[in-house]
Amino acid sequence: MSNDRLRPETVAAHALRAVHEATGAVVPPIYLSSTYARDENYQPKLKENYVRSGNPTLWQTEETIAALERGTSALLFASGMAAITILLETVPHGAHVVAPDVMYYGTRDWMKRLEGLGRISLTLFDPKQEGALEKALIKGKTDLVWIETPLNPTWDLIDIEAAANAAHAAGAILAVDATATGAVTTQPLKLGADIVFHSATKYLNGHSDVLAGVLVTREENQRWADVGMLRTKMGAPLPPLECFLLMRGMRTVFVRYRQCSINAMAIARHFEGHPKVERVLYPGLASHHGHAIAARQMRDGFGGMMSLLVKGGFADAQKLCTRLKVIVPATSLGGVESLAEHRKAVEGPTSPVPDNLVRLSIGIEHADDLIADLEQALAAL
Ligand SMILES: *Cc1c(COP(=O)(O)O)cnc(C)c1O
Repeated sequence: MSNDRLRPETVAAHALRAVHEATGAVVPPIYLSSTYARDENYQPKLKENYVRSGNPTLWQTEETIAALERGTSALLFASGMAAITILLETVPHGAHVVAPDVMYYGTRDWMKRLEGLGRISLTLFDPKQEGALEKALIKGKTDLVWIETPLNPTWDLIDIEAAANAAHAAGAILAVDATATGAVTTQPLKLGADIVFHSATKYLNGHSDVLAGVLVTREENQRWADVGMLRTKMGAPLPPLECFLLMRGMRTVFVRYRQCSINAMAIARHFEGHPKVERVLYPGLASHHGHAIAARQMRDGFGGMMSLLVKGGFADAQKLCTRLKVIVPATSLGGVESLAEHRKAVEGPTSPVPDNLVRLSIGIEHADDLIADLEQALAAL
C-alpha cells in the first residue's frame, strides 16, 4: 500500500521496510557507497550516481518523512541549520523576509546576518500582538514568511492557517519550523503552509545521536528544484549512516512523543503555582497564552517542551540547572532523556529571553522521578 494511504503511525513504524522487498529483509542494508556504476549503455542505473546528489538510503528516509508530513517531497540535510541557510539562499536578492522576534536563535542570527550584508530586508514581529504578522508584510516585496510553532523557548503558538492566508495574500510563501511538534501533531502543509522544516536532530530522531535537518514541500516547483540543486552544489545532504539512524529513531516517534507529552503535562500541572516558580510556560496549560491555538492546531498532545520562570534571576535559573540529578543540564531537545537549559547563558546578553527562564525538554522517564528531581533542585534556591 502506498504511504499516503496509511496513517502516519503506520508509516513511522514501518520506516525501515519500504525498499527491501527484494530480499525480504525487515531491516534493509545501508547504502554506504559513495558512487554507483553505470549500465551497458553508460546510463546511471539509479536517478543519481554520486552520493552528494542522492542515494537509496537518503531517498527512503525522505519518502518516510514526506508521508508523515503529507507533503509531495522531502529533502534531508546534514543539519537543521544547513536546511535553513539553503532555503534562505533561494530568497531573491533584496527581497523581504518576515519572522517572529522570539524564535530559534540560530535562525534569527542568520537572518540578521543576511540583513546586515544587504542580501535581504527583515521584519521581526511580535507573535503575541494581534495582527502583527499582517502588518509586517509588504505586498509584492515579502518573499518568505518564516514562523516557528510552538515558539522556542516561550512555546507561544502561531495560527498556521491564518499565517498562510496572510502570506499568500502578500505574494509570499509560508515556511514553518515545526521542530517542537515532532512531525507528529500538526501537519502544517495541510493547514496551508508551503514548506515545513524540522531539525530532525530533535524529536524525529529522538535519541540525541544524530544531527539532521529536513524540508518538506507541499508542491514541487522551481524554488524546490533550486533547494535540491543548492543542497548538491553546497554539499549538504544527510549521509547514509545518519539516514539509517534517523529512520531507526523515527519508528518510535509517535510513542515517544505521546509519553513526552504525558510527562510534560504532569510536570506543568505540578509546578504551576509552586512557591519557587513564577510561571510555567507550557501550551497544554489553560493559563498559557497560546493554549487556544494549541488545542486546535496540535492534534495529539502538547509535546515535551516547556519553560520554567523561576522566582529570582539569572543566577537562580542557572543554579537550578546545576542542582538537577536526573535531568541532564544540556542543550538540544526531543530525546528520550530529559534535558534542562538556562537559555540566557547560551544565547548571550542580547537575547530577548528572560534571565530566569529554564527550558526543559521532557523525556520518557517516569514523571514522578522528574518531578522529585525538580523539587529537590528548586528547594536549594
Ligand atoms: C535545533 C533547532 C534548529 C537547528 O537545527 P540543528 O539540527 O541543530 O542544525 C532549528 N530550529 C529549532 C526550533 C531547533 O530546535
